Amino acid sequence: MSEGGISEALRSASDTEAVVIGAGVLDRVADVFADAFGERAAVVVADGHTWDVAGSAVHDRLASAGREVRDPYRFPASPTLYADYDNIQTLIDALRDVDATPVAVGSGTLNDIVKRAAHELERPYLCVATAASMDGYTAFGAAITKEGYKQTMTCPAPRAVLADVDVLTGAPAPMTSAGYADLLAKIPAGADWIVADVLEIEPIDRAVWDLVQGPLRSATAHPAELHAGDAEAMDALIEGLVMSGLAMQAASSSRPASGAEHQFSHLWEMEHLGQDDDPPLSHGFKVGLGSIATSALYERVLARDLAALDVDAAVASWPSWDEVEQGVRAEHTEPGLDEAAVEETKAKYVSADELRERLTLLTERWPDLRERLSEQLLPAAEIRDRLAAAGAPTSPADIGLDAAAFRATYLRAQMIRRRFTILDLTNQAGILDECVDELFAPDGFWGRV
Ligand SMILES: [Zn+2]
Repeated sequence: MSEGGISEALRSASDTEAVVIGAGVLDRVADVFADAFGERAAVVVADGHTWDVAGSAVHDRLASAGREVRDPYRFPASPTLYADYDNIQTLIDALRDVDATPVAVGSGTLNDIVKRAAHELERPYLCVATAASMDGYTAFGAAITKEGYKQTMTCPAPRAVLADVDVLTGAPAPMTSAGYADLLAKIPAGADWIVADVLEIEPIDRAVWDLVQGPLRSATAHPAELHAGDAEAMDALIEGLVMSGLAMQAASSSRPASGAEHQFSHLWEMEHLGQDDDPPLSHGFKVGLGSIATSALYERVLARDLAALDVDAAVASWPSWDEVEQGVRAEHTEPGLDEAAVEETKAKYVSADELRERLTLLTERWPDLRERLSEQLLPAAEIRDRLAAAGAPTSPADIGLDAAAFRATYLRAQMIRRRFTILDLTNQAGILDECVDELFAPDGFWGRV
């Protein structure tokens, strides 16, 4: 793997100082710990599964290297561990009087629990990854459910991350498929950032862009090999995911790694889609379907000549804020979520004058924008085929979503986050509905769903 890319990324990261990726690197855990935490004692935190997979090995290697190790904290193997605030409180209570640096051995959920608990205990921590299932290891913040709502709670990324490719290739296949989908999502997510950049809404930070997009093409090129357990493909996947997390750290924003495809996922998550499945429907699987969905929308947009967009007509039919608010409240009725959606939508609402300015810019810059988008994007069918090759779901039915709810997501997802994406461009240009109609027409991309 390219050590250069990671060390370059670490220079701009605010929390993470060391990332060690490779086959057999679990053997180096004592050295990695010593470099990051000096003489501190260690306490391994795992669940019943990850303890068997790597936790006990980490504990033993630290101990046999002369490190002071406390009794490990183990969450039960079943039921499946949730990133619920109660679990964070449990861990805080267990570790409060244990004077030691936490070593999280697990994947997304366990890492998020330790990340937030360690922050509340004011201790940096070490993360030992057990699955390449998402890009959150090196990201700031933890996705936690508190009082029924999933939210991103503030907390620093781990000071050091260790990912042994031998361990990762042994993880359950769906976890790797999910991680692949979360990485492939950076292709349409990058397109969304290009849109925001060209329309002067959110400029691209070139250094941060390169962290995500640099390794992306090669890291996502071999889905079938990855699914078959190929170590090299796994190495590339975890590196890409780690780089994305580091980019979010550097940017203090998820923009570099998350666009409209994540808004699809967030909406389904807010509505608890697949949450009661065991294991619950993964982030990556939702994001993967979101990526097919937004890539297909981009195809409808690129089929148009927006240089010839009728700006007067779009401005004339632009709704007032009161009308928009009514629309948001009609689509989002769950208490709490309704107010949040109104607030997010309000943050990106523009006046008719601002809209005219923006759409005029769009018509002027369309040739350049279209070219940059064409270079960035993959065809929706290619995204779908790669996800299928990686073992990830590719249709709404695969994740338990009916066709009508899926179609409605194109309109509803636009309302839940302030981040400007292709959903906003099409909405503001007045073409979102007709593009969606085309996608679901009998000969459209989703015509047979
Ligand atoms: Zn993600």
